Amino acid sequence: CQNAVLTGPIETTLCDYETVESMNDNLLSNLSDLVRMPFFRYFQVDLYRQCPFWVDHGSCANEGCAITTVDESDIPEKWRAAALSKVDPDSIDTRHELPGCYYRDSDYCFLDDNTEGDYYDLQLVPERYTGYSGHDARRIWKSIYEENCFGLSESGLLSGKLPLVSAADTEQCLEKKVYYKLISGLHTSISTHICHEYLNQTTGEWGPNLNCFISRVAAYPERLQHLYFNTIVMLRAVARLEPYLAAFDFCSSGKAEDDVETQDCLSKIVRIAKDAGKFDESALFRGENANVLKEEFKAHFRNVSRIMDCVGCDKCRLWGKIQTTGLATALKILFELDENALNPRTNRDFLHRAEMIALFNTLFRFSESIRAVDDFRREWKELDEAE
Ligand code: FAD
Repeated sequence: CQNAVLTGPIETTLCDYETVESMNDNLLSNLSDLVRMPFFRYFQVDLYRQCPFWVDHGSCANEGCAITTVDESDIPEKWRAAALSKVDPDSIDTRHELPGCYYRDSDYCFLDDNTEGDYYDLQLVPERYTGYSGHDARRIWKSIYEENCFGLSESGLLSGKLPLVSAADTEQCLEKKVYYKLISGLHTSISTHICHEYLNQTTGEWGPNLNCFISRVAAYPERLQHLYFNTIVMLRAVARLEPYLAAFDFCSSGKAEDDVETQDCLSKIVRIAKDAGKFDESALFRGENANVLKEEFKAHFRNVSRIMDCVGCDKCRLWGKIQTTGLATALKILFELDENALNPRTNRDFLHRAEMIALFNTLFRFSESIRAVDDFRREWKELDEAE
């Protein structure tokens, strides 16, 4: 667990571990308040789309995988399907339709079309140990890592020769490294949640499992580094979104006074994001084939969002979808938009409700993971001192 102590600059960012750790309590506390607000807690999604990649995607029969929906009458009226399905006709011809989901050219993921799918109260669905594992879970992770293959020069790897987890490769281009870090950081966050809320199958009690954390995360310091990297990328996206957030109608009432509480909480989060979100997105997608590479990057990320339909555990699929959408939203903010596009008056429809919810709930998950890492370090230290 000594490996879990990180200091100094965080690679590929302009930030360091100490800065992230010193702001995390404040960030987590504000995010906890935010995600309890109705706008951020009810998420509508179609969890039962067909897996587009293989037939036998398995299903998790464990009780821990099951999930309950929220009755639509419990959702504030303005966010119910009928209200949400009033699609802005101006946006239609920029959307690419797939049955039940679509993407716009700037999107890094497929989105639901808001006419299907149930509502979930995210406050009632903890991300924790469910028992989903084995061949099916590994196949999902393997497919996601295999999306990290760019350009014709790498086409040989498409035949399945790519190792499940590639070692740090100095030959890799920056974009490829960033892709890998984002996926690995998400994987670290999911594993950390699993280990932090683990079910002891002998006693039936829930609690942190230090050995689980050591074997899945702390034994591989780079996995932990990627969690911090992801947090910085998300914070940078939030910092850039400031003007858009400030003008966003969170209560759908059209009255700014109704949004005071949400705006107050968001402005605290934005302040933190501006201090710690030190990532230079302009260093990516430069040079001769920048646009081709960017389109590939986007296409691969969209595929990741479709792979989520193959996750055979409802609870894991819900959080998998939210977090891949959250990351994709951050990438869209960073790589697709200049400051003009972030003007909410001229670009009202740029972020959909689902993307906004996913962005902040994903950041919340990463921030929670950093807190959990701290808990594990403390537990390990106490054990060490007792010996
Ligand atoms: P896995 O976590 O399945 O990892 C497979 C392999 O990937 C490892 O052997 C290792 O080589 C490599 N690897 C592991 N971590 C990293 C990393 N951070 N960076 C790079 N490489 C890595 N289970 C739950 O109990 N609760 C959940 O909420 C949950 N959500 C999930 C969401 C998704 C989208 C997916 C795909 C799976 C989810 N699972 C969940 C399953 C969980 O992630 C594991 O697959 C499962 O616990 C089995 O773990 P494992 O130790 O076999 O390795």
